[in-house]
Amino acid sequence: MADGKPRFKAYEQPAGGWGAAAATAKILLEQSVVAKGSRALLAMNQPGGFKCPSCAFPDAECKKTLDFCENGAKALAFEATKFRVTREFFEKHTVSELMEQSDYWLEMQGRLTEPMRYDAGTDHYVPCDWDSAFALIGSHLRALESPHQAEFYTSGRTPNEAAFLYSIFVREFGTNNFPDCSNMCHEPTSRGLPPAIGVGKGTVILEDFAHAEAIFVMGHNSGTNAPRMMTALVEARKRGVPIVVVNPMPERAFIRFTEPQDIVQMATFGSTPIASEFVHIRIGGDLALLKGIMKVIFEREAQGEKIIDQDFIQQHTVGMDAVRDDALAQAWPEIVRVSGVSEEQIRRCAEIYIRSCATVICYGMGVTQHQQGSKLTQQVANLLFLKGNFGRPGAGISPIRGHSNVQGDRTVGIDEKPSQAYLDRVRDVFGFEPPRAHGHHTVESVAAMQDGTAKVFIGLGGNFVRAVPDTDRSYAAMRKLALTVAITTKLNRGHLVHGRDALILPVIARSEAIRTAAGEQFITIEDSMSNVTASRGVLPPASPDLLPEVEIVCRMARAALPGSKVPWESYIDDYDAIRDKIAEVYPALYSGFSEKIKSPNGFHLDVAPRRLVWLTPNGKANFLLFPGLDVNAPVSDPGMLRLATVRSHDQFNTTIYSFNDRYRGVRDSRMVLFMNVDDRIERGLEPNASITLETISSDGVERRVEGLTVLDYPMPRGSVAGYYPELNPLLPLEYHDKISGTPAAKSIPVRVVGS
Ligand code: SF4
Repeated sequence: MADGKPRFKAYEQPAGGWGAAAATAKILLEQSVVAKGSRALLAMNQPGGFKCPSCAFPDAECKKTLDFCENGAKALAFEATKFRVTREFFEKHTVSELMEQSDYWLEMQGRLTEPMRYDAGTDHYVPCDWDSAFALIGSHLRALESPHQAEFYTSGRTPNEAAFLYSIFVREFGTNNFPDCSNMCHEPTSRGLPPAIGVGKGTVILEDFAHAEAIFVMGHNSGTNAPRMMTALVEARKRGVPIVVVNPMPERAFIRFTEPQDIVQMATFGSTPIASEFVHIRIGGDLALLKGIMKVIFEREAQGEKIIDQDFIQQHTVGMDAVRDDALAQAWPEIVRVSGVSEEQIRRCAEIYIRSCATVICYGMGVTQHQQGSKLTQQVANLLFLKGNFGRPGAGISPIRGHSNVQGDRTVGIDEKPSQAYLDRVRDVFGFEPPRAHGHHTVESVAAMQDGTAKVFIGLGGNFVRAVPDTDRSYAAMRKLALTVAITTKLNRGHLVHGRDALILPVIARSEAIRTAAGEQFITIEDSMSNVTASRGVLPPASPDLLPEVEIVCRMARAALPGSKVPWESYIDDYDAIRDKIAEVYPALYSGFSEKIKSPNGFHLDVAPRRLVWLTPNGKANFLLFPGLDVNAPVSDPGMLRLATVRSHDQFNTTIYSFNDRYRGVRDSRMVLFMNVDDRIERGLEPNASITLETISSDGVERRVEGLTVLDYPMPRGSVAGYYPELNPLLPLEYHDKISGTPAAKSIPVRVVGS
């Protein structure tokens, strides 16, 4: 426990290795599940077992005895924990008292055990039986003047079967208001890539890493946010494949990594240097870097070198000329200024790209969470087009998703902007006319709560109010609602910032078995690389009063739509019946679903660009122009710093596993700000000064976070970083990518005010 003064000492060991092994043992001990947890870990990510509830990195095809990472073990331990939040716990604590506690403390209280309803008279949650809970939800939803007054949130932990039924229930109810967690992370991928390559997903599969001749990792801290990806990077390095890492923070795993499953490395304390080129980019400098690399390619092509894959360009693409002219027009001094990267280093990166006949470019939030994140993803595609890096082994674009089924949820209908063709299929398969008007994404749903148009919020998983921007305004908006429903496994702040009426509905967790009248059921998950695999829980549910997400969705639907012709009850027991419906609504992707899913490693969904098929309006891969070099609106404040909000190594989304951040050398506190020493001195601050940070905005709203300790850290000048959700109060709701609605959480303009 902590959150006092941070202890800070640079971490010199390699990432992974014994540190990861020790952290795994420590978390199982802390949650008092050494035996139970170890047994479960043997089944995690294994055929016949369950899928890790944490990130969305795919499982290795060739199975090892252990196929999980340290952060997967933390997610499992927190789920399998011995600790319980019982009715006695809620009797003991008022909601106001619980609000005083840290996110970490709330999580550490353990698993929820039965449905609870908020009692405004006593400010306590009190037990509520399931029937009454569904009746309350039904009455609130049926009482709405319009179905658009309800917001239906989905967290990326939600499996395909529950997400699909949720999408049908909400559309039969009459709205497309589907705020979901991908709106806050890879929505620019889902909205930015389709105009370029025809799909809003990555085209790379895990095997491609074994064939790549060069790998770029942009704006992603893989050692923390997809640790098993390091295995693929270590193997690539051992093959001599150059790896270019682009990041404002010199993340430890890219400097040196010890593969925990490499007995020789573990026995000899050996490690592998990952980044052959570490590009210490300024926050917001990625566009300038990509254009710099393209400029080098076009310059050298013009000087007679045969670099560009002209056959691919002629046959498959349109629009290169405009992109070439724009790149050539960019002046090197400006490219260097905006990117913060030297021309020499950009030329080295270009050389690595040019020499490679098969390049993979991976990216994370460092590319998407900017005011123009969607357009930036298109520039990644532009670069890959130049050497025809699609449709062959070892090549392609790879957005690394952060939550286990966030991509799957979108594939099976969690989409506030559904296509008309999809809605026609829903009508044909389920016999009701779905709403055609686009609904709300996350930022729009908070805005609807603020202006009072939204009355009801239902959260299928997650910790919405803690994940969204502009914390103070979002809390106030949530508290205006008539009803909030939180369907989760553990206690979190989303239960404490609630509507006039509020319900907590506890679910069976990913690692726990689902038994229905028809026997044991399994769910399915689609990972970052479009693999769909089965997940069968192996542990007994944490309490006999938990329900699976599928049953909760079906009973909510029946309560809200008494006259519905959809056979909700039939899906409660038989998940194959749900998968058959998914196959009917998505025949191109899911035909034969129930058969294909029987394969131990699941199956791969079709991703058309892998077959050089472009599902774009013009049937081509499109070079798309992004004028200029800035991904964010310039800010004319001499004291301005660009703030990136990040996860610590002991964190998964808003779940806090401890107050430490091992790889960055921070212990005992999350109230820290990583700053370049010259930026600190320039502001007259002492080392480890305690400061207040303020957002630079013109909307008249004061946004401040106090009590941050400044840590001297190798950040590029003008760039700072700190943890979310603690710094979410600094992120204005309106400060987002206009195309996708994704908050620009990686480039918030701030300044230091007072210490
Ligand atoms: S890499 Fe991601 S999915 Fe795999 S075990 Fe680790 S946290 Fe889980």
